[in-house]
Amino acid sequence: MISVTLQDMKEMSFLSIEGKNLCKYIDSKLINESVQSIGRKISQDYGEEQISILCVLNGAFMFAADLMRSITSPCEISFIRLSSYEGTETTGKVRMVNDIPDSLSNRHVLIVEDIVDTGITMNFLINEVKKLQPKSIKVATMFDKPSRRKCHVHVDYIGLTIEDKFIVGYGLDYNGLFRNLPDIYTK
Ligand code: 5GP
Ligand code: MG
Repeated sequence: MISVTLQDMKEMSFLSIEGKNLCKYIDSKLINESVQSIGRKISQDYGEEQISILCVLNGAFMFAADLMRSITSPCEISFIRLSSYEGTETTGKVRMVNDIPDSLSNRHVLIVEDIVDTGITMNFLINEVKKLQPKSIKVATMFDKPSRRKCHVHVDYIGLTIEDKFIVGYGLDYNGLFRNLPDIYTK
């Protein structure tokens, strides 16, 4: 597979966050294995039941695309755009940029998120989805930072649990950049 790495981008001047150089933290191979493993588990759990994936934009687009390809149950996808972060810190206030599709009522909803950090975003979203009275709600996240929790949330499928570090790559950004890196980097 040919894809962009930090090495390819090393001549460029935007390879730092808050003055600190990026260093590799998680290899794409481990990410891919984790995605496949979650996909298998989800497929076993839902079987022939139809899954309505709700992908949380922007960060989860890459994970959702890969995860969907590893699920064998019938599934559809819709998108919700939430915003709470500025730079490397959450503002604590979650804003819904578009509405959750009404079509999720009476469906098995699987919320797909890039990372659960304080849990504020996921707690907010679960409550919003509940209002549509789906048949069930489950949560899948690629990364989990349990040490940062401020709000309890039940996460059903976790790719990788990480330390309290701000990460970029595999869909996760810093001020809009670095989403294209297949590996995960930290400062
Ligand atoms: P929470 O509400 O759980 O604190 O944060 C949820 C959102 O904040 C995530 O969906 C993600 O978009 C963003 N976020 C949290 N931690 C990180 C991180 O380490 N890196 C990046 N790029 N975004 C993060
Ligand atoms: Mg997110």
